[in-house]
Amino acid sequence: MLLSKLFVPIIKDLPAEAKIKSHQLMLQTGMIKQSSAGIYSWLPLGFKVMKKIEQIVREEQNFIGAQEMLMPTIQSAEIWKESGRYEDYGEEMLRIKDRQGREMLYGPTNEELITDVFRSSVKSYKLLPQLLYHIQWKFRDEIRPRFGVMRCKEFYMKDAYSFDLSDEDAIKSYNKMFYSYLKTFHRLGLKAIPMAADTGPIGGELSHEFVILAETGESKIYADKNIFQINFSQYSFEEKSLKKMREDFNKIYAVTDEKYKKDEFDKNVNKENQMVTRGIEVGHIFYFSDKYSKPLNCLIDDKNGKKTSVKMGSYGIGVSRLVGATIEANYNNNVMKWPKSIAPFDVVIIPSINKNNKENLEKAHKIYLELKKQNIDVLLDDLDENMSNKFKKHDLIGVPYQIIIGSKSQGDDLEFKELNSKSEILSLNKIKSKLKT
Ligand code: ATP
Ligand code: MG
Repeated sequence: MLLSKLFVPIIKDLPAEAKIKSHQLMLQTGMIKQSSAGIYSWLPLGFKVMKKIEQIVREEQNFIGAQEMLMPTIQSAEIWKESGRYEDYGEEMLRIKDRQGREMLYGPTNEELITDVFRSSVKSYKLLPQLLYHIQWKFRDEIRPRFGVMRCKEFYMKDAYSFDLSDEDAIKSYNKMFYSYLKTFHRLGLKAIPMAADTGPIGGELSHEFVILAETGESKIYADKNIFQINFSQYSFEEKSLKKMREDFNKIYAVTDEKYKKDEFDKNVNKENQMVTRGIEVGHIFYFSDKYSKPLNCLIDDKNGKKTSVKMGSYGIGVSRLVGATIEANYNNNVMKWPKSIAPFDVVIIPSINKNNKENLEKAHKIYLELKKQNIDVLLDDLDENMSNKFKKHDLIGVPYQIIIGSKSQGDDLEFKELNSKSEILSLNKIKSKLKT
């Protein structure tokens, strides 16, 4: 892509409500545009990053055997009346009527809808366990949408649902998802901590929030620093190992403020290991047994032909929130460096151009075509601007690698720079192999 053709409407005056780094940066680099309070258009640069995050989430859901599907955004109020949540959900639910006067709503979550899908198709334990997920827009009429894509009304979420015959089996599904989340966030370059959490309006018995540390986060957290010692890669994707992983995490104190009790914290964690800080919730998992299957009459035949309510869990990841959260975690000293796995481009070529020197631009074009041929997603800054402005701009766009075509690049020796590090001189072949690993 040529920068001169890339659709990045730059905003000169940041709106006063853009208080946190991620919101400011996303507006400055034209990743999003607000359409109304808490509702955004995703412009090419932002969309690209979000889609890359979505793909990693998808791959890791598929890895644990979850099956992708797609449910609608608009739901009928009927099933929500059946579950009893139509009244309970309150004003966060956007309620609509169709032309026949039927009560509809824009889905804030999908427990009811998936239970309805399931009860009409599965009657026997033989098809269990099942893990189903979709990645779809949600709408919650948040009272105070803020911080850009972090808390909006319309947001993009991956939500998965597990179906099992017994509580015991259901916990196995929960453990698989727990592992998948740790692996997903790791691939996104984030250190997410699982925290014992309150179940809130989803309800139920067991719940963890996955939180990444950030000063601007809305969740207050209390944890033992030792939680950072546990790494998902110590465990294998086998029942026993996953059980051990959960036990290891359970031994270490880490809770959000709804669950926090000072005496428990002091009893369980030495003063020097106590960490009280803020974080951003990027995922939330719940085990709620038959909370929805019972009122919705979602029954299956067990091995003895006896009807029993299916045991369910639900598992969310805020895909659109993750774009902002990744910026909060990686933007330092006016430099944004995207993790390689989700960067909007693999590399940017920055030639020094002026009236007397078109040679650099020609050379840059050649390299650009060469990299494209290798399926490397490359951006070429072909704008006639001075180098210091260019560098400032690319510090914000955050492409992690740069090829700088100026005085240091001679012949096949090219100046190659990883953001936040010193540049080095490399041949194009070396650069190619670096970008491909
Ligand atoms: P929060 O406590 O932040 O309001 P929640 O507990 O209501 O979140 P869940 O119902 O667990 O959220 O939704 C799953 C995930 O969807 C959350 O972990 C979060 O990443 C994301 N999410 C929830 N609400 C919003 C929102 N208003 N804007 C953007 N992402 C959101
Ligand atoms: Mg939550």
